[in-house]
Amino acid sequence: MSGGTILPGATLGLLGGGQLGRYFTVAARSAGYEVWVVDPDPDAPAAHFATRHLCAPYDDPVALAELGRNCAVVTTEFENAPASAMARLAADHGIAVRPAPDCVAVAQDRIREKQFFAGLGLPVGPWQPLRDASGIDAALAATTWPAIIKTARFGYDGKGQVHVADAAAARTALAADPGLVPCVIETRLTLALEISVVLGRAVDGSVRCFPVAENRHRHGILDLSIAPARIDRQLAAQAQAMAGAIAAALDYVGVLAVEFFVLADGSLRLNEMAPRPHNSGHYTIDAGSCSQFEQQLRLVCGFAPLDPEPAAAAVMVNLLGDIWQGGVPDWQHVLAEPQARLHLYGKDPARPGRKMGHVTVVGSAIADVLAKALALRSALGIHDQD
Ligand code: ADP
Ligand code: MG
Repeated sequence: MSGGTILPGATLGLLGGGQLGRYFTVAARSAGYEVWVVDPDPDAPAAHFATRHLCAPYDDPVALAELGRNCAVVTTEFENAPASAMARLAADHGIAVRPAPDCVAVAQDRIREKQFFAGLGLPVGPWQPLRDASGIDAALAATTWPAIIKTARFGYDGKGQVHVADAAAARTALAADPGLVPCVIETRLTLALEISVVLGRAVDGSVRCFPVAENRHRHGILDLSIAPARIDRQLAAQAQAMAGAIAAALDYVGVLAVEFFVLADGSLRLNEMAPRPHNSGHYTIDAGSCSQFEQQLRLVCGFAPLDPEPAAAAVMVNLLGDIWQGGVPDWQHVLAEPQARLHLYGKDPARPGRKMGHVTVVGSAIADVLAKALALRSALGIHDQD
């Protein structure tokens, strides 16, 4: 450490070794840092590039003690890496944990997260908390239908969510899966658009936002991100200001992603946040002047944020395991396209719904880039009607 900053040569700890951790690890190792990854999966994507892989549960006391003894700072790439493990690292081992465990704890619990947004005076759609079965009647009586039941913890990529048309359907769903509770019951909104803000906040409170991304989901999983989002500057600025207010209220350090819904009248509603780099920020690897992973590295090491130059037009297409079901996809079209880059995360097996990689197309005009990306997507066998 020098003046509170962590210099190359130091060892950084990472809880979680998925694809986000893989990119963080590559960024850190390219800049001369060592990275120790904790992940129970022996074949964790980040472990392929890490200095050391501690193959253990995220809350394993021996692994945490190892990080505590050897790392200058610990960060996370996976919002379900327990905030309690991060808190223990800070309390018992006295090392810097960025973002702070409290920030991660808020993002890990949809009830706390929505209360936190609302407490800041930020707009959220109509929702009801359901903490235990005794609250069902009151929660259902207060809900506007149709709705989505979302388990409060450990949901991602649309998992732990049930769409329900009315109170009777909600009762049936809750009876069929008591594990959904505690949960939130959210009114299903008619969305004009979904957007996300990925920002970086430094120890001294300075904030830099990446260009806002426009996100399309299929079956609750991100399918496409378009950046910059095709929205007016005012709306983009409004979303960035809200995300900045969230980061400031949390005294957040690192990269934070905030997801928004845009309604037909052009107004915003907060959806959720992720205390880490985000799938909708993957375009920053190939477009613009710095990637979200370089930014995360700088910020967790205590440096000032990089200034992301406005990106050229970029479209990212997620590649899910579904397109591997007939064998490894034919990459010819993607690799033959000079504006496209193929990313594969080294995951095996390719289960349906599993994020296996992505393709980013970069250019100067959004309409051309989008047309190219959609053509590649369809050549890979990804179709809207599936
Ligand atoms: P996850 O943690 O799985 O990303 P989200 O709450 O972001 O969970 O839900 C996934 C997707 O489902 C959203 O990006 C959006 O497309 C859709 N969705 C979620 N909540 C709502 C809602 N209240 N109204 C309409 N669509 C929603
Ligand atoms: Mg989401």
